[in-house]
Amino acid sequence: MAQLSDDCFAFGGPLMSIDEAVGIIASRVTPVADLETVPVVQADGRVLAADIRAPLPLPPFTNSAVDGYAVRSADLALAGQQPFPVMGRIQAGAAPGAPVLPGQAVRIFTGAPMPEGADTVFMQEDVQVDDAGNVVLPAGLKPGANVRPAGEDIRRDATVLPSGRRLRPQDVALTAALGLTQLEVRRRLRVAVFSTGNELVSPGEVRGPAQLFDSNRVMLIAMLARLGCAVSDLGILRDERGSLAAALKQAASSHDLILTSGGVSTGEEDHVKASVESVGTLVLWRMAIKPGRPVAMGIIGGTPFIGLPGNPVASFVTFAHVVRPAVLALAGAAQEQLVPTPVRAAFSYKKKIARREYVRVNLRKDSDGLYEAVKFPREGAGLLSSLVDTDGLAELGENVTAVEPGQTIGFLAYSSLM
Ligand code: AMP
Ligand code: MG
Repeated sequence: MAQLSDDCFAFGGPLMSIDEAVGIIASRVTPVADLETVPVVQADGRVLAADIRAPLPLPPFTNSAVDGYAVRSADLALAGQQPFPVMGRIQAGAAPGAPVLPGQAVRIFTGAPMPEGADTVFMQEDVQVDDAGNVVLPAGLKPGANVRPAGEDIRRDATVLPSGRRLRPQDVALTAALGLTQLEVRRRLRVAVFSTGNELVSPGEVRGPAQLFDSNRVMLIAMLARLGCAVSDLGILRDERGSLAAALKQAASSHDLILTSGGVSTGEEDHVKASVESVGTLVLWRMAIKPGRPVAMGIIGGTPFIGLPGNPVASFVTFAHVVRPAVLALAGAAQEQLVPTPVRAAFSYKKKIARREYVRVNLRKDSDGLYEAVKFPREGAGLLSSLVDTDGLAELGENVTAVEPGQTIGFLAYSSLM
């Protein structure tokens, strides 16, 4: 199981920046140690457990990049057209056949191996075939044109994928091109998810007049699944210290991370913190982030615990900036930096210095072709429509105090956050 020392998340400062939080998380958690072997076709999203080296070069043999005619560049005239007799035909997948002799051409197709002697290919669109069946070649083609030399893409023995890579479709394509069938990956992170709150019921249950259907749980489960976690849906816990503590302790014995939402504010009915303290250790991180309130971090029986705020937008934003880096670190994956795209603000906004804010926005193409960010009209941290009806988050850094229309700001698409 992913293990942590008891003081792993201890931190004394009054307000923690997001960069500081990510730094602490990335440096202090120990990733899951268990490995498993998976077929390449099932490896997308998994975390590589060891570097991959190329057992062969790519392409494995020198081949034609086009449909055309292969020749020896030494035969080519500096000016004028030249007729060459066509002495053979090489299809993709076929043997290269006899060497090309001086003064000869060979018909060749994309991906077919270059015959010995030839080093240049004329595209079929650039030549003519005369009545005698000779191919007539124009002057001016560079020696080596339209040929893909063996190893031009990947050299044999090169390290092509690093340990810790969360595999993407193009990464698994590369492993397949190298002939690999199985990859060694870290086992999936086991994450337990709870919601907390007496006001919550699950969809499908009878909802009392002062009750809400629980929406955070399915959101967090979906985000964790996109990060490659094996998630246990452990339902809703009541605002009651004893039962909360018992459920958290039980979950700790069989998971690598426990994630809750709700109950971490400082109200009298916020019991998550006290429950964690009764079965483990807890620190409250006051994050310099809006939306988002305190995030509770802790250790229960060696298993990390993260308690997110209950408001759906606060839960979403703190997931992206605290849970995501924690999950990557625990899963043994390299941190994947979030890179905001520069866009033009189409709104004005005032904010406090020394805290990072995320504004829900839609992107719209401006008349000059650049994108501008249009702010969602309302700001409440409980508004699910503000997440559903927007494209992503505009990131306003710690030093920003105001945004004016036309100013360049950073945009993070929702898809980049999970
Ligand atoms: P709390 O952080 O427990 O004080 O909750 C803050 C707000 O978020 C309250 O209005 C809760 O009703 C709401 N909330 C808490 N948990 C959930 C949830 N799982 N789904 C939807 N809303 C929630
Ligand atoms: Mg609550």
